Amino acid sequence: NSSESVHSSFECFVESTMLEMDLRLLLPSLVPSSQSVYVLVFYFVYLAVAGEILPGKVIRGVVLSDGSQLRYRCNGLFALSLLVAILGISAKLGVLSPLVVADRGLELLSATFIFCVLVTLVLYITGRTSSDKSSSLKPHVSGNLLHDWWFGIQLNPQFIGIDLKFFFVRAGMMGWLLINLSILAKSFQDGSLSQSMILYQIFCALYILDYFVHEEYMTSTWDIIAERLGFMLVFGDLLWIPFTFSIQAWMVAFAQQSRTNSSCYCSQLLCVLDRKPTFLFSGRYMVFRGANKQKHIFKKSPKTPIWGKPPVVVGGKLLASGYWGIARHCNYLGDLMLALSFSLPCGISSPVPYFYPIYLLILLIWRERRDEERCAEKYKEIWAEYLRLVPYRILPYVY
Ligand code: NDP
Repeated sequence: NSSESVHSSFECFVESTMLEMDLRLLLPSLVPSSQSVYVLVFYFVYLAVAGEILPGKVIRGVVLSDGSQLRYRCNGLFALSLLVAILGISAKLGVLSPLVVADRGLELLSATFIFCVLVTLVLYITGRTSSDKSSSLKPHVSGNLLHDWWFGIQLNPQFIGIDLKFFFVRAGMMGWLLINLSILAKSFQDGSLSQSMILYQIFCALYILDYFVHEEYMTSTWDIIAERLGFMLVFGDLLWIPFTFSIQAWMVAFAQQSRTNSSCYCSQLLCVLDRKPTFLFSGRYMVFRGANKQKHIFKKSPKTPIWGKPPVVVGGKLLASGYWGIARHCNYLGDLMLALSFSLPCGISSPVPYFYPIYLLILLIWRERRDEERCAEKYKEIWAEYLRLVPYRILPYVY
């Protein structure tokens, strides 16, 4: 008995020492280094300049309550392609390591977090002191500091003419791809590239590129039209999207290190493209993109046929055919299924890669409820009629 207890206390000691060592290694890497700050500054300056000077379609946003409309220059695809090209050439010339993000993930994360706190404090102060009466900049102050800082005070604050909400969401989506690419480069270098990693990378890259191809659709989404810019949104865009949506890549990279033979990348890629996940991904993508596209086109020209037939319209305002006749938020269903596609290649041995779909499920159910409340208030009896025609929220016959 006494030898058992000595043994178990020794195990406890070893475990706690290892934990302490892990923490000792972890904590310094959470402190932002000057290099991580330079990376962030370069990134934001590039996005600000590229967003202003690169050509792109200028889209008018939704009509705000005071009748005004913001303009958005949708040149994200151009800005992203150019950035990836610049980074690729710099890596080739040895000016910049492609692993700069993968090797400094935690430092970048903490630098981004500090940036989010600082920028939202500035937004809080400028919001509180604003006397602007326009829908975009009118301050909404509850008096509760935490509430106002978290949810934001102004709808569309700007900095040197840049719409910050549009800017941050763009930065987050591009950041997600850049993190993924850096982890991909690391896997190449370590010789640990796996099928899971290839599938994850392909699916995410398609999703992100698709986002920028259809960037104009973003201008009519909930975040842009209804959410004020506070810590919740800034943190969500700049930190949550890029760092947590890439968890699968981090995990696969670390789990696979030195397990896979890197000599057969091409044959693996060919196998992968021929398998079911790609087929499933395409189906899920069709629901996600199809639903968002139908709504966007309906808002622009309400008479455009849906699936070859004249659209069913409720009260002249709400679309009740196509995906919008199957469930009231088929676009969320498509997004959830896509999120699952990013995780399935990682297998089921760990729940960690499922973090993103689980988080998204909770977020979208919560959001769908808030959106319905807003629509019920806005559309009144038209909304009630729509509920009668389309009884399912997200998943037909289930929810
Ligand atoms: P929606 O694009 O569904 O926008 C909701 C708005 O659309 C409503 O407020 C209403 O606005 C309008 N609307 C609702 N029903 C109808 C209808 N039947 N006919 C016409 N208009 C209608 O929601 P989101 O902005 O939340 O989502 C956009 C996309 O972004 C989704 O695909 C979602 O999955 C994705 N997303 C992804 C997240 C992620 O973390 N990956 C997070 C959040 C969203 P109006 O008052 O203008 O009529």
